[in-house]
Amino acid sequence: MIHKSEICNILEDYDTTAITIATIGSHTALQILKGARDEQLKNLVICKKGTEEVYRQFAVADELLVVENYKEVLEKEFQEELIERNAVLIPHGSFVEYLSPVRIENELRVPIFGNRTVLEWESDRTKEREWMEHANLRYLRVFKTPADIDRLVIVKFPGAKGGKNYFLASNPDEFKTKIGRPELRLKLNENDAAEFTIQEYVIGTRFYPHYFYSPLKDRVELLSMDIRYESNIDGIARVSHILQDIPTHSQPEPSFVVTGNLPVVVRESLLPRILEMGQRIVEASDQLFSPGLIGPFCIETVCTEDLEFIAFEISARIVAGTNLYINGSPYSQLLYDEPMSTGRRIAVEIKEAIKADSLDSIIY
Ligand code: ATP
Repeated sequence: MIHKSEICNILEDYDTTAITIATIGSHTALQILKGARDEQLKNLVICKKGTEEVYRQFAVADELLVVENYKEVLEKEFQEELIERNAVLIPHGSFVEYLSPVRIENELRVPIFGNRTVLEWESDRTKEREWMEHANLRYLRVFKTPADIDRLVIVKFPGAKGGKNYFLASNPDEFKTKIGRPELRLKLNENDAAEFTIQEYVIGTRFYPHYFYSPLKDRVELLSMDIRYESNIDGIARVSHILQDIPTHSQPEPSFVVTGNLPVVVRESLLPRILEMGQRIVEASDQLFSPGLIGPFCIETVCTEDLEFIAFEISARIVAGTNLYINGSPYSQLLYDEPMSTGRRIAVEIKEAIKADSLDSIIY
């Protein structure tokens, strides 16, 4: 892991009157770039050849850097170019996936908005679980071995792949059959529990609240909320009455591939609990990996019929569901009374940190 002092040394040579918000062209880049522009900060986008047109079309970037492969960002010369432009990188889901959490932590010397230590806490499911337990969130049951499966479970694989290849099982035999599917290319090895996680599948309604923690204001803000639209599970729900009459072996296997995002607001009486969860996650992060979580994050939850929120995952960076709210959400409108997306909120925090001469407190 690159030491924070090394990043701070680089930051010391930055011209803070010419900070450039930079990110990789995918995921939430349009929103991040627009947010920087709305706050009169310079911005740039790094695009893979063939994807530039999107950023030209929407014209929200001051500069486009085109690469053949995103891994080029990690090359010394490329990093030097970014540093010369006083770049602050904004991580998002694709950014972390393309560059890899380990390589970001160990090789990326360009200052990143937020605390890069968080990457190892969100990408390792054991650590993520420790974090949620420390925060006293109602976390769901995790089964150590397939032999223990005694209820409906969801089986997950490492890395944020948007639910790709996850499957459901209700008993050890069903698990064995499904894990053997050729597309998984995994050999069932009961000692190698790290290959997959077996979580209790919670039935309820999903809410993915989008928070922002500002260290400058020491405040957790609820900016917006979404529900992921997932194929084919959300399609199956529309024909469930027809599927009931089909023999089990012919029924489609549910999958959880994210295809879009739906806006949602929660019953107002549930808001205290949502705010409390965000607050606790931030406090726990400070205790576990000080200075903890900085900036945007999302807790993936299911709300049960007893109106209890059960958390199943944390995304410790901007999530794609925030793209619904480039012009703000009902919640951000109440907080700011102007169009405040998560992307713009990041730019506001950076601007305020520059003003307070404390950029080093929100960057690592
Ligand atoms: P990302 O990192 O992008 O959030 P991921 O690959 O880690 O994606 P998850 O978000 O953990 O995947 O899960 C994908 C989807 O599967 C969820 O959006 C949700 O619909 C469903 N899901 C996951 N875990 C559970 C659970 N324990 N109970 C009910 N549904 C779940």
